[in-house]
Amino acid sequence: MTPEMGVKAVEAALASGPKSLAITFFGGEPFLEADTLFQILAKARILEHQFGVPITAKTSTNGLCLTDDIIDKAGQLGLFISLSFDGIQEAHDKGRVTCEGQGSFEIVDNALTLLLKQAAPFSVYSVVTPGNVHLLEKSRRYLWDRGARILITALDYTSEWTQDAILTLQKQIKKLSKLYKSELKRKRQAFHMEPFDSRISQWTRGSEQKQCSPGISQVTVSPDGAIYGCVEFFYRRQDALGTVDEWLHRETVKRFSQKRAKKPEECEECAFEWRCNNTCACVNLRGTGELNTPPESLCYTEQAAFVTIDDIAAQLFKEKIPGFVLRQYSQSYHMLSGVEAVIDKLGDATWPV
Ligand code: SF4
Ligand code: SF4
Repeated sequence: MTPEMGVKAVEAALASGPKSLAITFFGGEPFLEADTLFQILAKARILEHQFGVPITAKTSTNGLCLTDDIIDKAGQLGLFISLSFDGIQEAHDKGRVTCEGQGSFEIVDNALTLLLKQAAPFSVYSVVTPGNVHLLEKSRRYLWDRGARILITALDYTSEWTQDAILTLQKQIKKLSKLYKSELKRKRQAFHMEPFDSRISQWTRGSEQKQCSPGISQVTVSPDGAIYGCVEFFYRRQDALGTVDEWLHRETVKRFSQKRAKKPEECEECAFEWRCNNTCACVNLRGTGELNTPPESLCYTEQAAFVTIDDIAAQLFKEKIPGFVLRQYSQSYHMLSGVEAVIDKLGDATWPV
């Protein structure tokens, strides 16, 4: 994407009248085009004032070309960095290799050191696959011990999960809950740990949850200026909804929303329906080729995760762990307070989420 196209996209989004705008840069690897990214963001910061609409910005990175300069610049422009890092070497190198086929653990571990050293707010994004699930607890502990405090975990719904792998997932979540519990006991607020915080708050703070609405509350802009509902539609160049020149075509968006709205029949009677990721059109497209049909692996892993995490939450509630009660039930505590507190501790960095 050229800087001009990126700026045009930001202008068009602001002109559509939002109360706030969250920009996410994605790739590939966004920092391969760090100059372009920062040019777009610098202009977006000017437009933010002109339009009077607050803008937040974030990017994911594999960490391979992260430098002190990039982190400095990100700090100056209020860019939140999410480092893709799966944990200990054995877990990370299973799925993340360089072009030469070498595991990228050491490089990404150095990137983590840079982020910690500069005290910039950041998160670590880890993908749990059937191949590394047995290392989940060790990996999260490693990242925690290194100093990462915003730990995001995503399950790989597109791989095949055997029954053994699912049982391992449950065991590992239980093991990891010891770390979660001990930090809650210390009443430490300045952290956010998945898969616990958001899954539990689906119960306790259901009214604060927002469903994603591709093409309505969010869009993905391609380098040529075409607009899609979300990333997978862009990757496939499927169901374009407009262009940055004309913005969204109302009728096309309406048809797209109707297509998305249909829920899978198999899910209608399911007790987890209202919490499940079965409505993620991107995962569904990737897994089954259909917008409304979740892959089996999603169904099995979601059920296993919910059952396990609900048990853990019930126990934490029973024990009246103060940090847990505060985090999940206090009116004054927002779900993102843990993240906010990390950032507050770092000084007056820009609120990124
Ligand atoms: S849940 Fe899925 S469809 Fe919705 S924003 Fe996320 S990736 Fe896109
Ligand atoms: S757990 Fe399975 S059946 Fe239940 S809502 Fe999710 S995908 Fe549908």
